[in-house]
Amino acid sequence: MNIEELEIEIKEKFKEIIDVIPLGIFAYQDKKIIYANNNIRKILEIEEDARVIGRDIFDFIPAKIHKMVSHYIEEGLKLGHVRGDSVIYETITEKGHTKWLEIKATLTDIKGLPIFLDFAIDRTVEVNTQKILRERERRFDKLFDNAHDAIFFEKLDGTITNVNKSACQMLGYTKKELIGMDVKKIIPPEFSEKQKNIIIDLLHKKKSYVMETENIKKDGTRVPIEMSVSSVEINGNEEIIIIARDITRRKKLEEQLIQSQKMESMGLLAGGLAHDFNNLLSAIFGNIDLYRFTSNPKKKEKYVEKIEEIANREKKLVGEILLFAKKRDYKKETLDLVHLISITLDMILQTFPKNIYITFTHSMKNAYVYGRESYLTQVFLNLLINAKEAIGDEGGNIDIILENRDKNYKIDIIDNGKGIDETILSNIFDPFFTTKKRGNKKGTGLGLTVVYGIIKSMGGEISVQSKNGEKTIFTLLLPKLEKQIEPQTKEIKKLGKGEGKVLFVDDEEFIREIGEHLLKEIGYSVITAINGKDAIQKIEKNKDINIIILDMIMPEMDGREVLNWLKSTSKKLSVLISTGYTNFDIEKLKKEYSFIKGIIFKPYKIEELFKALNNI
Ligand code: ADP
Ligand code: MG
Repeated sequence: MNIEELEIEIKEKFKEIIDVIPLGIFAYQDKKIIYANNNIRKILEIEEDARVIGRDIFDFIPAKIHKMVSHYIEEGLKLGHVRGDSVIYETITEKGHTKWLEIKATLTDIKGLPIFLDFAIDRTVEVNTQKILRERERRFDKLFDNAHDAIFFEKLDGTITNVNKSACQMLGYTKKELIGMDVKKIIPPEFSEKQKNIIIDLLHKKKSYVMETENIKKDGTRVPIEMSVSSVEINGNEEIIIIARDITRRKKLEEQLIQSQKMESMGLLAGGLAHDFNNLLSAIFGNIDLYRFTSNPKKKEKYVEKIEEIANREKKLVGEILLFAKKRDYKKETLDLVHLISITLDMILQTFPKNIYITFTHSMKNAYVYGRESYLTQVFLNLLINAKEAIGDEGGNIDIILENRDKNYKIDIIDNGKGIDETILSNIFDPFFTTKKRGNKKGTGLGLTVVYGIIKSMGGEISVQSKNGEKTIFTLLLPKLEKQIEPQTKEIKKLGKGEGKVLFVDDEEFIREIGEHLLKEIGYSVITAINGKDAIQKIEKNKDINIIILDMIMPEMDGREVLNWLKSTSKKLSVLISTGYTNFDIEKLKKEYSFIKGIIFKPYKIEELFKALNNI
């Protein structure tokens, strides 16, 4: 065979192939179909014996794109060729189904007539999948951006890759600022280690975690959050998803609950305290009588010493209880469990009946954790009061054991009271659950609820074991402070001496006296004023005053009026607000009066005053 013959043969072959290749082929002239291969018939669901030649191509094209297709055809005819690559068109099959065809059109001519010769591939599956994907993406976008919770995506190295609107709102950053940022910038240092460990753990175990923590906002303030962490694979890389819920409101409510429950435990202590006071008063009166009846000066001296000793002991006890009752420490700090438990025991020892023996066993000198002092004190107080109540009048033992346990400190509080029945063991942490009747009053059932909340918020665990009628063991696990933040006592030593002239304004004489004394002790020179009016006169007279410690509620002229006066005179002074009123909104006041540099709650300790002044 020669070449020409071969060509004819191959063309014959092509005729067969045209019906075998998975490509729809059709041709039309002036919108009338003049050729359609088997495949396109199949795609368009045209019955085998139905005639397709002569049909209008628009029969297979939805009306909404007729205009566009016409335009396309006209353009091809005008140019003499078809522009561009293949295009995806929506088509309607003979049976009315929608299909998506990728069409590569060419323009040719036969005997002077322009003929469109088109090749088509059925892309319905791909288009539908894409549509589904796009739909999903749209849904995701909507969820992502309308979610009330803040959502962060981050790489394993901590780079933030995406955030939603709520995240921006919560932290005060723009989306642009957050994307690409190292997540460390929004995590407080004391949480970063824990968070890292969780993520490592998460990648190993493929679980998700929920924890309470804090984030740092752009303005440097913190927002309490409940965060859930999980991981997801994106383009073959593992990414971390963090969903963070702003729990400021919940924290405020918790705060209120804890405060009111604190008053309950104070009330419980007060009962014991009153009893103890009576004994001590008798001892004091006894010693006074002895003093009167003796003429021996040596003995007299002894009796006075005795009275002083008793008074001092009582002063210490009342001081500790009052301090705890009044304390509102909004800041977390480094706490030493050994110290804190000892102080709590001091506080209760005299109020508990003498037939309850308490031991505290620990092998370490210090055990540092991170939290709020008054909260943690309340935990121990509640557990000890419960133990005491379980023991009842017959007396018994309470043992506290502090031990090292990996990354935690373990504290067991064991009493040999009446124990807890198995049937209620799982209920005791519930709010308002109580089995106690106090006369015609019941227990509040909030003690353990508060304990549970506080321990959880510190990232700890609490569990209980009990054998009915034998004993009860409460076990606490509290995370050790990993990055040792200097404990407070050391901080105070570093503060050094104060300098400058302070005006101390308070209407209570004894507070003025103490204030003056303390301030002089730390090295300030001090003038005092008894009310607002007096304060203004003294400021006018003494041009060298740098700092004013200002009480808010005073007769004649109160603190607010002094602040207004200061604002109008534009004097260069710093003001430290001193108040006994704990719900004070200092931030609001600071905005109004730029010279307010801090607040201090009465009664204060020397360190607190020191710190506040040092901050100025
Ligand atoms: P309340 O003390 O007001 O009843 P709590 O929340 O402190 O509320 O305690 C709830 C309940 O748990 C108590 O009523 C008591 O039944 C039980 N309970 C707690 N601690 C002990 C304990 N050490 N021994 C026995 N029962 C306890
Ligand atoms: Mg209780």
